[in-house]
Amino acid sequence: RTVYVNGDYLPEDEAKVSIFDRAFLMADGVYEVTSVLGGKLIDFAGHARRLERSLNELDIKKPAVFGDLLEIHRELVKVNGIEDGLVYLQITRGAPGDRDFVFPDPETTEPTVVLFTQNKPGLADSPAAKVGMKVISIEDVRWGRRDIKTVQLLYPSMGKMMAKKAGADDAWMVQDGHVTEGTSNNAYIITGNTIVTRALSNDILHGITRAAVLRFAKEAQMQVEERNFTIDEAKKADEAFITSASSFVMPVVEIDGVALGDGTPGARTARLREIYLDESRKAAI
Ligand code: PLP
Repeated sequence: RTVYVNGDYLPEDEAKVSIFDRAFLMADGVYEVTSVLGGKLIDFAGHARRLERSLNELDIKKPAVFGDLLEIHRELVKVNGIEDGLVYLQITRGAPGDRDFVFPDPETTEPTVVLFTQNKPGLADSPAAKVGMKVISIEDVRWGRRDIKTVQLLYPSMGKMMAKKAGADDAWMVQDGHVTEGTSNNAYIITGNTIVTRALSNDILHGITRAAVLRFAKEAQMQVEERNFTIDEAKKADEAFITSASSFVMPVVEIDGVALGDGTPGARTARLREIYLDESRKAAI
């Protein structure tokens, strides 16, 4: 596979980053994951906007190649022959000559820019969409700026392992009794014709897929309530689902061992997934 590192397209085993890179030592970096369907990028503009915001919030210098990111995404998709898959992009504060808690001078330390593709044939036809996911609830002990998409993913990764050990697929995180989000996705419940999801704040990532799905939901005449909900409310809901760039809209059929409805994916969730995939494919670039 060909990857991109700081201006160069290289075979993956020739790509190098310094051991002093701030992301390696301090998780001082941000990332984006953009999905590819039919060789085209889904919602690239949304991901680029959020990336710019993440960089601003952390005071990481915008790399000189920022304006070329679309072209770099497209080139990697092309050279790696990606029909369905993902493009991973990471920008870090860079690699000063030594380890120091103080941010390096942006005049002398350039951000590190890395991109690679992941080939996922049939990404939109995942069997999980037909079976649905089981989630467990865990305490949300992450830091207070989850709206910034940093590479600090240890707790989400631990959460996914806790779910796996419990025989589930993912974990929904709970803070002060209310669901924040999934380990790598936004969380929703549906009761009647109403979709409920936590409102945007520093507590959750502002999902690009979330924004699109809420827009389409309103067009599909479904009500949207952006508010807190508890795990108990979720267990009594008619349907539940998650959204992310890599899973699109994915049904949740079980929470902490309690089946929702008859334990199979709900019709409204299936409809939302269909609309999301149709509309996103149409707008892909
Ligand atoms: N929430 C968290 C914690 C995530 O890591 C992600 C995606 O990686 C999302 C939500 C979903 O965001 P998006 O739809 O932009 O992929």
